[in-house]
Amino acid sequence: TLQDRLAATFKNLRGKGKLTEADIDATAREIRIALLEADVNLGVVKEFIKNIKERCLGAEVSEALNPSQQIIKIVNEELVDILGGDTRTIRFAKKPPTVIMLAGLQGAGKTTLAGKLAHWLKSEGHSPLLVAADLQRPNAVNQLQVVAGRAGVHCFAPEPGNGVGDPVQVARASIDEADRRLYDVVIVDTAGRLGVDEVLMQQAADIKAAVTPDEVLFVVDAMIGQDAVNTAQAFADGVGYDGVVLTKLDGDARGGAALSIARVIGKPIMFASSGEGMKDFDVFHPERMASRILGMGDMLTLIEQAEKTFDEEKSRKAHEKIVTKGGSGFGLGDFLEQMKMIRKMGPLSKLFGMLPGMDGAMKDQLNNIDEKEVDRIEAIILSMTPAERDDPKILNGSRRARIAKGSGTEVSEVNNLVNRFFEARKVMSSFANGQMPAGMPGMPG
Ligand code: GDP
Ligand code: MG
Repeated sequence: TLQDRLAATFKNLRGKGKLTEADIDATAREIRIALLEADVNLGVVKEFIKNIKERCLGAEVSEALNPSQQIIKIVNEELVDILGGDTRTIRFAKKPPTVIMLAGLQGAGKTTLAGKLAHWLKSEGHSPLLVAADLQRPNAVNQLQVVAGRAGVHCFAPEPGNGVGDPVQVARASIDEADRRLYDVVIVDTAGRLGVDEVLMQQAADIKAAVTPDEVLFVVDAMIGQDAVNTAQAFADGVGYDGVVLTKLDGDARGGAALSIARVIGKPIMFASSGEGMKDFDVFHPERMASRILGMGDMLTLIEQAEKTFDEEKSRKAHEKIVTKGGSGFGLGDFLEQMKMIRKMGPLSKLFGMLPGMDGAMKDQLNNIDEKEVDRIEAIILSMTPAERDDPKILNGSRRARIAKGSGTEVSEVNNLVNRFFEARKVMSSFANGQMPAGMPGMPG
């Protein structure tokens, strides 16, 4: 399997202390074979390998990770990217009901998914209504009713005995029903055919036009190989959709083809289905899928920890500088380092308490820094020479003008930053000397 192959590849890398270009080439070759064997789309594989090689060759020397860990990290990040990057789930309509329409070939798993989706939405506090707009197959309506029963939700269907109805009308009527009975989500199950054909596409497009869904989900069986990508393209052209649902991931399918869909079509995979039970269903997490494919969840955790520990170490050193030298050893480079570390952890305002040496007035100082401003500050500091960073006192007018030019900012911004830095350092050195800075809220001045 893809997992095994990649795991073997990385196992060979693990012992290495230093990687050469030849190592990177050999690794890339192995990854390429593994992905092609797993039926990943050729175009996707080529792009993937190109990105990985570029990033490995151009990778900054990391102090936290050894070279093989670095490659694994890069492969993982690229894989997550291919799988769609961030998790995306249902966008609910501002004014209910939210209308979700399912489209896909016959046997893809739409009707089963309708039940799972309803079951999940119900558990999230919604009141979904299932709509039987597949009037093609004789027992399709009945199948959806059974599924609705298992999910514990209502099913909207044409009256029994009515024979063949008009799926567009049923779909339209279901919206009125939802309005009347206050269902906040409507899930429209549609008919599929064995292959892509005009009539099928037209019917799906007509239903879509009639109910203007908030989300059209393309449902595809992960076991059908490269056809998954072709079918996905046909539905993208013929009907159009917002997201993809992969089904039958529990099978022994290679799955690589389906995983190429996100990249080839440019639509996110939103849900994954992995069995016939109501609960065999999950929001699709590109990160989790990537580590499943790489078969190395533990390795990735280790890498994260190594990086985190390294950051803590840096932070501790910065703190030491502040304490031991009364703040004078703390330069703009350290200032930037601190800021970047904070940003990596999330929104600035939440996180100040987590840094040693960053409290009280220092916190207020940093709190005034807008998230986007950090980029500009970084540009300014990176435009300085190391000597200027270590000892900002030497920043005279002409140096400041040069820095502003180099960083694409204004001299006033450079001045601002330098002033703010000196103030911050003053506050820190008073901490280091065991004094309370004046004017701290709740403290005697
Ligand atoms: P539809 O024609 O698109 O509505 O597909 P159905 O929902 O009727 O599913 C077709 C068959 O696939 C049924 O036998 C389902 O029980 C089965 N099925 C659906 N989803 C999954 C899944 O995630 N895993 C497995 N193993 N079977 C599934
Ligand atoms: Mg069906």
